[in-house]
Amino acid sequence: MKTLKDLFLDSLADIYYAEQQLVRALPKMAKAATDDPLREAFESHLKETQGHVTKVERVFAQFGQKARSKKCPAIVGLVEEADAMAAENKGSPTIDAALIAAGQKVEHYEIATYGSLKEWAGIQGEDAVADILEEILEQEKAADAALSELARSRCNAAAQEQNESGEAEDQRRAA
Ligand code: ZN
Ligand code: FE
Ligand code: FE
Repeated sequence: MKTLKDLFLDSLADIYYAEQQLVRALPKMAKAATDDPLREAFESHLKETQGHVTKVERVFAQFGQKARSKKCPAIVGLVEEADAMAAENKGSPTIDAALIAAGQKVEHYEIATYGSLKEWAGIQGEDAVADILEEILEQEKAADAALSELARSRCNAAAQEQNESGEAEDQRRAA
């Protein structure tokens, strides 16, 4: 029979795997970005993500365990989609909007996982662990919000402008 503690530790191993994958994926997303503020956002979240790996190791240690990772098929799929979106939009003004969308899917996955982990730590009376998980959760939410802001303030408009000039060009050609 699985206990809540088993479920907690399995989910922790899942997110530990995910964070390690993201340490590898974020530099590629930064490199694919053409907008400087977007590239900086990916780079700064990479640093936070490296910190998440360490924080998750601290949580394992609080439970007297060595950190272990468990393959997370969801993050593998999300990273695959991010790669595909980057490839499909490469060299196009839609690239940054596509990277933001892919990045936000990842953040939402992390937010969901850390939300559950934090609640499960709390109900087990592991308040110090709940605090660590809350710190990570807040950084994931901030990363998500920063991507929304970049989309609204810059990247979506840049993609749309190109769209409009492309349509104008089509109309000139048709005339
Ligand atoms: Zn993270
Ligand atoms: Fe997972
Ligand atoms: Fe994240």
